[in-house]
Amino acid sequence: MTQKIIEFYNGNSIPALGLGTFRVENNDECREAVKHAIISGYRHIDTAQTYHNEEKVGQGIKEGLEATGLNREDLFITTKLWMTDYGRENVQSAYEASLERLGLDYVDLYLIHWPGQDKDLITETWKAMEDLYNEGKIKNIGVSNFHVHHLESLLQEASIKPVINQIECHPYLTQKELRTYLEAQKIVAQSWSPLMNGQILEDEVVKEVANELGKTPAQVIIRWNIDENIVVIPKSVTPSRIEENLNVFDFELSEDQLSRLNALNKDERIGPDPEVFTGQ
Ligand code: NDP
Repeated sequence: MTQKIIEFYNGNSIPALGLGTFRVENNDECREAVKHAIISGYRHIDTAQTYHNEEKVGQGIKEGLEATGLNREDLFITTKLWMTDYGRENVQSAYEASLERLGLDYVDLYLIHWPGQDKDLITETWKAMEDLYNEGKIKNIGVSNFHVHHLESLLQEASIKPVINQIECHPYLTQKELRTYLEAQKIVAQSWSPLMNGQILEDEVVKEVANELGKTPAQVIIRWNIDENIVVIPKSVTPSRIEENLNVFDFELSEDQLSRLNALNKDERIGPDPEVFTGQ
């Protein structure tokens, strides 16, 4: 099973499928899920400072590496800077604290988690991320939940362009306009809550396509991301689902199936709108 890799404009690359860990508590279930994912073949794990589980994610990584004989460089690890640590003077210590909790000496991708409401603060925060990148402490830097106008404003001041924008995205919120902009800018799109926390798996069209292919609704949604060139990070703590969600590299959606899924768009979010989100 060959997994898909997506290249960044800077020459680095990211496995197109990773494991999400939002709302996974900092306990043995978290450690086991991450370890099981690595043993099953995942090479990409997504966490964040605000998930408060970086310690157990880190332990799962360590145990996954031990069990498989892989090296740290074989994995792609993302974490995210939380809004309370924005500002030039806070970023380095927040990053180092994340590394400490993860038990790692670098992450592959560090993201600004939300744009918030203060563009100057974001610019300042981005400059500090650029410093860490230029010092070789982070492999790649990116953003999350940025609309086009947030990116336009950032790009006016940035010396280094974000490699990725991690956004809510699924067939009910296809983000076509934003994704077209990202493509033109050579910024990779990554979707969070790709399964809508399970909600979209009940959709009749999704179930119909799954029946046509002999796949599960989750596999169809994950494959939709892969075929649309979007990096995708479904979350599961259930071993059988962790395996099921990875098992998407032996089929493709037809043009007809892709367009039926794309036609489901209704700009429906399950998470907050970045336009108004303040972190509260
Ligand atoms: P998802 O859309 O990935 O859905 C996760 C839910 O779906 C869980 O309840 C899980 O259950 C269930 N599930 C997983 N696989 C299957 C399957 N094959 N069949 C049926 N049900 C399944 O939700 P998330 O919100 O967690 O999003 C994914 C990741 O995106 C997060 O974990 C996080 O890493 C990231 N994220 C980033 C955000 C940002 O602001 N940048 C915001 C939100 C998320 P179970 O675990 O019990 O198996």
